[in-house]
Amino acid sequence: MDLLIVGSGLFGLTVAERAAAAGRRVTVIDRRDHIGGNAYSEAEPETGIEVHRYGAHLFHTSNATVWEYVNRFTEFTSYVHRVYTNHAGVVYPLPINLGTINQFFAAAYSPEQARRLIASQASEYDPKTAASLEERAIGLIGRPLYEAFIRDYTAKQWQTHPRELPAEVISRLPVRYTYDNRYFNDTWEGLPVDGYTAWMERMVDHPLIDVRLSTDFFDETQPWNKRAAIGQLPVVYTGAVDRYFDYEGGELSWRTLDFEQDVLSVGDHQGTSVMNYADASVPYTRVHEFKHFHPERADRYPTDRTVIAREYSRFASREDEPYYPVNTPDDRAKLLSYREMQRVEKDVHFGGRLGTYQYLDMHMAIASALNMWNNVLA
Ligand code: FAD
Ligand code: UDP
Repeated sequence: MDLLIVGSGLFGLTVAERAAAAGRRVTVIDRRDHIGGNAYSEAEPETGIEVHRYGAHLFHTSNATVWEYVNRFTEFTSYVHRVYTNHAGVVYPLPINLGTINQFFAAAYSPEQARRLIASQASEYDPKTAASLEERAIGLIGRPLYEAFIRDYTAKQWQTHPRELPAEVISRLPVRYTYDNRYFNDTWEGLPVDGYTAWMERMVDHPLIDVRLSTDFFDETQPWNKRAAIGQLPVVYTGAVDRYFDYEGGELSWRTLDFEQDVLSVGDHQGTSVMNYADASVPYTRVHEFKHFHPERADRYPTDRTVIAREYSRFASREDEPYYPVNTPDDRAKLLSYREMQRVEKDVHFGGRLGTYQYLDMHMAIASALNMWNNVLA
């Protein structure tokens, strides 16, 4: 074996695929009983509707190299993501756009009038120098829209007041002075035609790749464990960085999600794939209705049933799956100490969302894995 990869998420699979293509023998281990990490999806058994077990995943990118790479393993549908939000019992389009603004202020502002109104409401902070998510959001959209659509949703999602969150988190949410309500600005987007799992299985369908599931790197009863591997061969580690060092530098805070999935006896529950709930009075952040991700499968999906999942967010304990780095100032200080510890680990390469404690979309995880392969491992 030439390389051990811990974690079969898109980061680990990309490195495995590149290494095998270059003639290297690779073992990929994952403690879960399936490949694909958080992008994994499966058919819900009663209805056959594809559900994303770890939350809805929408592929989008403007990186031509990544787009060319992923298209080697799957075709993508023409799905375009749009999200709506329920505030005080009324549904508004997201991201915040002229439609949202006019509906919220019960007005018919032109783009210029809306810009002027928002500028007058946003003058408290300069988004460029904002020190927190709250300051950036108010500087971008003004206090009334912030309080309606961002403040409570963000507090529910991150279990942290927006004042203590980094400003960058909100950069992901654009504001538009047109009626364009595409959620993503990227050049390419779509969903894998025959599902995420089929895509990811094709990435590792190679005689030089051995995949071992239900295999934990820290379990010393299995042969590919940390103690046996380190120093013997290069290791790509995509699990949580604090866990790797046995929490020596303190625990990094992560957010985890709980999904409450239901099969409902109606053909259509909410008319769209994702409905956010902006208010603190509703305990979940959003409801996913999976059949709407694949309108092209209408003839294969039942017309009298649908699958939904309510998403709840909370802090992760050590036993939970760490999904999102919370990234408070305290976390960033701990991360620096982990980076120091990584420097002395012999031939261990930390990657992916958990290994770098970074908020990475799928295309970013793939781009970063391609970089690691091309610039470090190859
Ligand atoms: P992961 O997918 O987390 O894979 C890491 C793997 O390592 C896991 O399978 C885990 O079981 C394994 N592992 C951890 N510790 C060990 C151990 N000790 N031993 C063995 N194996 C271990 N991206 C988008 O582009 N669009 C989206 O719409 C989107 N939505 C998302 C929604 C949610 C709720 C989440 C959590 C993420 C979302 N993402 C989305 C991001 C996407 O999931 C990641 O970019 C992608 O999965 C990154 O892959 P990764 O390999 O870094 O990590
Ligand atoms: N956000 C919000 N209200 C919404 C949707 C998003 O305040 O209705 C904020 C929230 O802080 C969130 C960030 O925008 O963390 C990014 O949202 P996105 O939907 O991109 O996050 P993800 O899908 O990764 O959870």
